[in-house]
Amino acid sequence: MPELPEVETTRRGIAPHLEGQRVSRVIVRDRRLRWPIPEDLDIRLSGQKIVVVERRAKYLLIQAEVGTLISHLGMSGNLRLVQAGLPALKHEHVDIELESGLALRYTDPRRFGAMLWSLDPHNHELLTRLGPEPLTDLFDGLRLYELSRGRSMAVKPFIMDNAVVVGVGNIYATEALFAAGIDPRREAKSISKARYIKLAIEIKRILAAAIERGGTTLRDFIGGDGQPGYFQQELFAYGRGEKPCKVCGTNMREVKLGQRASVYCPKCQK
Ligand SMILES: [Zn+2]
Repeated sequence: MPELPEVETTRRGIAPHLEGQRVSRVIVRDRRLRWPIPEDLDIRLSGQKIVVVERRAKYLLIQAEVGTLISHLGMSGNLRLVQAGLPALKHEHVDIELESGLALRYTDPRRFGAMLWSLDPHNHELLTRLGPEPLTDLFDGLRLYELSRGRSMAVKPFIMDNAVVVGVGNIYATEALFAAGIDPRREAKSISKARYIKLAIEIKRILAAAIERGGTTLRDFIGGDGQPGYFQQELFAYGRGEKPCKVCGTNMREVKLGQRASVYCPKCQK
């Protein structure tokens, strides 16, 4: 599933080809995403110049002169640039053709993604309840400490809650808790301020490193498969249940927390 670093990598990959370009037409082959693609998307977007491509949490905001296309990659979506008119394969649901001769193509085999239109995206119901961006000063360990007081839920689903901070998906929550030495099963309220400060620093470090690595695959956004190379990142805990800890050699354990697989080292994480 594309997580925040992959979405940010996508934004950086597509933005230079979209910004300042005028849309010539929009071809929708299948509207049935998580919510239906608006029937009038072509009428609304065609003829408009794309002003800027922004990101909020895992939503890409493709802002035109009037109105914004809000896109989410869901479980399996990707956006890449192709030559306009390139025949579409199965699952290639949308082309946004540009006057440059390129087209932004949306592919999504599982169709859990979204493509919505809004005149006021930051007040769209999907975006208003989101917590701060993890790589900004609005997010820090003090916020985690204050929001966690009185909360007996496990710390891992707590940091994955979009109202607390956006963009900390399962991979990054698992890795940040390992790096901070915090047992993912611990009650959120039982963790000290000093440990939350360490955890917030690790969340920022790991997300920033993943975005940095994604940047090396930007060439793939034209003609390639649009898939950032995030799986190349070195993982210490995620997906390593029953394997030896890379730090101490103890067998890693896997538990379910908030319906998600959670791997931790019983020796390194307390
Ligand atoms: Zn260990």
